Amino acid sequence: MTTTILPTPRRMLCSCCGAETIGRQWHNRDTGWGLCVDCIDRCHRGETEESFSRLYGERGVHFDIQNIDKTNAYKGFTLIDIPSGMGGVLPAAISKDNGESLTVICLHEEYYPNWVLTVERSQVRPFSYKLNDAMKKTIDSRIPG
Ligand SMILES: [Zn+2]
Repeated sequence: MTTTILPTPRRMLCSCCGAETIGRQWHNRDTGWGLCVDCIDRCHRGETEESFSRLYGERGVHFDIQNIDKTNAYKGFTLIDIPSGMGGVLPAAISKDNGESLTVICLHEEYYPNWVLTVERSQVRPFSYKLNDAMKKTIDSRIPG
């Protein structure tokens, strides 16, 4: 898998409503201007996928990258959902943030437990599972010492 390291997301202003948002600079926007989550639908109206991404960049990379809830964590590991490859999602914990991609530990007890893999940040979804003892044990086993 090829991994492009992108700059750390930064504070920007929405070019549509002026609100503060977190994003990455897109070359077709003035420096420091991006798109906030509230304005995505409004700004998407009347645009094709191509013209929209030409104007604002890639969703999950240049805007709408606040989909990782860092408060949902266990012992410092942020909990997320990752694509299962079969249409659903699997519970996982982030072990390393590489920028656009993340190194994660799969927390599913039956489906590749302890599996360490790389996922694109744009594929990550908020954690929708209930943290159980098996998941905690998987994370505990990854803590050095
Ligand atoms: Zn806005």
